[in-house]
Amino acid sequence: MSFANLGLNPSLLKTIEKSGYTTPTAVQVEAIPAALAGHDLLVSSHTGSGKTAAFLLPSLQRISAASGKPGKGPRVLVLTPTRELAQQVEKAAWTYGAEMNRLRTAVLVGGSPYALQLKKLKDPVDIVVATPGRLMDHMESGRIDFSRLEVLVLDEADRMLDMGFIDDIQTIVARTPESRQTLLFSATLDGVVGNLARKLTRDPQRIEVATPVQREARIDQRLLFADNFSHKNKLLDALLRDTELNQALIFTATKRGAEELAESLYEQGFAVDALHGDMQQSKRNRTLQRLRDGRTRVLVATDVAARGLDVAGITHVINFDLPRQAEDYVHRIGRTGRAGRTGSAVTLVNHSEKRLVRDIERYTSQTIRIDVIAGLEPTPRADKPATSRRPSFGDKPKKPFAARGNDRFDGARKASPGTGHKPRPAAGSSGAPWSSGFRNEGPRTNAGPSRRRFSE
Ligand code: AMP
Repeated sequence: MSFANLGLNPSLLKTIEKSGYTTPTAVQVEAIPAALAGHDLLVSSHTGSGKTAAFLLPSLQRISAASGKPGKGPRVLVLTPTRELAQQVEKAAWTYGAEMNRLRTAVLVGGSPYALQLKKLKDPVDIVVATPGRLMDHMESGRIDFSRLEVLVLDEADRMLDMGFIDDIQTIVARTPESRQTLLFSATLDGVVGNLARKLTRDPQRIEVATPVQREARIDQRLLFADNFSHKNKLLDALLRDTELNQALIFTATKRGAEELAESLYEQGFAVDALHGDMQQSKRNRTLQRLRDGRTRVLVATDVAARGLDVAGITHVINFDLPRQAEDYVHRIGRTGRAGRTGSAVTLVNHSEKRLVRDIERYTSQTIRIDVIAGLEPTPRADKPATSRRPSFGDKPKKPFAARGNDRFDGARKASPGTGHKPRPAAGSSGAPWSSGFRNEGPRTNAGPSRRRFSE
């Protein structure tokens, strides 16, 4: 199958070619012709599947013809859960719409000044990409008009619902014309998302592509057990010295954890930045640009970076802290192995977190390989029984973890050392081929390393 068979017009085919895409992805093969035919769509697709082009290309084709309706409101509205994803969608719209006559877009997201957004809304706009909260603000002040709206896209609908946007979404949708085309993309179409999808769409075509298992085949996933915080830091240091590592995205559980870890890595000489939701949008943008430009080698982030972030240079995702939800694990590791490349996802686990790992494995229907780094093996320890309460009458006898014959986590202490791990020399050691390129060369004072980046 080629893009030329999907019914797209020559100007879009030209930009696709310029993007270097040779064949459409599975979701594009299914969704593009159906959307061009005017159907509502319910698409279960995952990050990295090419879903953005799957909804943008047919939407751009539609708006390449004149509207026929007066007004200056958007003809396409894309709702996304996060600011980062919204910005990436806008960027993709410019890329795919590069040959179109003066495409006008606006991103309406929280954390950015209103002034610029209001200025954009004064002029006619073709595509608005928005997070639900900020869009509601603009709607309430009467600054946005949906009378010309032709296409409504809900991107990562499941995530928007997880974030509590259900009421906002329903209010927004109620203000759009009934004649609109609705394209809903979500990792899952079950449960609450399915119910919402049924309410918002008319006679939709359901498209299901690539399960998480197939999708992550190109990402090597492994677990490293850590005895304690200090051991965890040593494992991280060894991972960051892997010669195969180009850029790494490290996830922490908290904003403070991200700041502190970034600062500690900075002090060790890594070109590192932190990214989390407390940062001003302009600073988040600058941080992401440095990552894209390759000026940052390590980004320490909270789950704010788990979705939408698309940086081809990220070879490694490291879960310094486990995600709270199994689903977030899938999104986090999807930040590597982008656009057909391979990637490595390493999860650092405390012995007390085995249950969370099992939840992830159940969710992905995959077993994550247990690895060790030579010289940094976890200390053999007798696991505590699964429960310490006294058994009551009728309880099934419970064996402690260690006593369960087939507990695969016992293997953590027996696994063959250092699978595929090629250490780099320590940062700054003489002759290290990578040291000048990756070390943070920002200004330093006699008082020690600059903290500017983390307290701006
Ligand atoms: P998405 O799932 O929309 O986040 O897209 C994931 C990545 O795949 C992005 O970097 C896109 O630029 C890239 N991509 C989208 N469609 C194709 C395609 N047909 N061939 C190669 N890469 C693609």
